[in-house]
Amino acid sequence: MKIGVLALQGAVREHIRLLQQTGATAVAVKRAEELSDLDGLVIPGGESTTIGKLVKKYELTEPILALHRAGKPIFGTCAGMILIAKNIGPEEEPHLGIMDITVKRNGFGRQRESFEAELAVKNIADDYPAVFIRAPYIEKVEPGVEVLAEVDGKIVAAKQGNLLAMSFHPELTEDPRVHAYFAEMVRESMAEKAV
Ligand code: GLN
Repeated sequence: MKIGVLALQGAVREHIRLLQQTGATAVAVKRAEELSDLDGLVIPGGESTTIGKLVKKYELTEPILALHRAGKPIFGTCAGMILIAKNIGPEEEPHLGIMDITVKRNGFGRQRESFEAELAVKNIADDYPAVFIRAPYIEKVEPGVEVLAEVDGKIVAAKQGNLLAMSFHPELTEDPRVHAYFAEMVRESMAEKAV
């Protein structure tokens, strides 16, 4: 099982370290040809406009969409969540536009630019130490999207089939439970294909 971490910006090494702890092979990917043999992909946080531009520049849109069409799980954290959302507000074009969520960028505003919260994340943990950094939240989910966690009534984690999205940075903790959950999604998707 080989999981790629999109290495255009963000805490790539931290994601790789936690994925490896789950027993997966994890690699940094940046070129189109490195994406084709992946079983799953993590899109880290950073700055979504920048990551979006780099995805275009390196011609990664189509290879990522191809992974999605092939049923390979994709996990977007923070800016990565903005990248996969179908709707990021009226002023901005969506980037990859694959998950049926409407995202509000920098949704927690100035007062709570960065904060930590102990979070109940459905099917993952009752007490996950979630780190939020200028985090977006999910304003609206379409049918078929399962809400996994909320903070102050705002959705901060969701799943739709093989897509997983979180507002926070699970790579900035020592807690491997989120990565273990994603690795399990990848394992299951491979098992389905083998049948
Ligand atoms: N606010 C950033 C954006 O809109 C995301 C922040 C993050 O990934 N930590 O791209």
